[in-house]
Amino acid sequence: TLDQHWEMHVGRAAGGQRIVQLVDQTGNYAAERMRVDFVANASHELRTPLASILGYIETLGDEKAGADPEVRARFLKIMFDEARRMQRLVEDLISLSRIEAEKYRLPDRAVDLAALIGEVRSELFDAQDVRSNDIVATLESAVPPVIGDRAQLSQMLHNLIGNAMKYGRANTPVAVKLWRDPAGMVRISVTDEGEGIAPEHVPRLTERFYRVDPGRSRAAGGTGLGLAIVKHIVERHRGRLDVASIVGTGTTITVMLPAHIPAQADPVIKR
Ligand code: ADP
Repeated sequence: TLDQHWEMHVGRAAGGQRIVQLVDQTGNYAAERMRVDFVANASHELRTPLASILGYIETLGDEKAGADPEVRARFLKIMFDEARRMQRLVEDLISLSRIEAEKYRLPDRAVDLAALIGEVRSELFDAQDVRSNDIVATLESAVPPVIGDRAQLSQMLHNLIGNAMKYGRANTPVAVKLWRDPAGMVRISVTDEGEGIAPEHVPRLTERFYRVDPGRSRAAGGTGLGLAIVKHIVERHRGRLDVASIVGTGTTITVMLPAHIPAQADPVIKR
């Protein structure tokens, strides 16, 4: 098919026979194309705020505009917001490449998710400026810890709960649940009462820079990398991610992680 890439190698064996080898490079081509797209997207995302900052600096340098304190204050605020946007993007790019670099190193600590959810909940709740989403946590007791990387799991919760607050309606609660399912996996779900996500977008949400509504994402300060980061963290923890959404009603994102079962102490053998 058109999506297939084969490489042909022609050579001669020791006995003089011709050897033709066909190597399937489809996977490598797809990976290479993704890498090129990613660099192009990231550069574009940085270029836009940078151009805006440079434009405002130029205008402020102009004597008339620069002398008006009201104009100055307004322009400085815009420049500050644009610089913050670039900072968030650069921080997310760094996170993403760190998590990817650690892909093959299994996390090795027991992490108590109930405590971590409590921490992230108060951090996000306190950071709200205008919107007022309550974060209601329902934590089943006696949920075992997971084997994890605490900082990464914290970032995962920040991104999921942060999205629920960004895309949930104002003054509606965000529900966070923690429980152990019958298969022994630890599950965390984050539910919002927002506009929901149409089914055709769901499979693409964890792609880098994929946004359902780019204008809305940018206005809310999104980088388009939040769920890509979540996906990488979940994969590194040998977990799974599930998105259930109803347009007009809301979204529930569930993460399933393997429980940490402490090694049994060696049984004492009595004779
Ligand atoms: P962003 O920084 O744009 O929020 P994410 O990677 O976190 O990037 O999410 C990708 C896109 O998925 C968002 O732009 C948004 O369109 C959609 N999305 C994510 N979470 C939700 C949610 N809880 N409700 C509705 N849409 C969501």
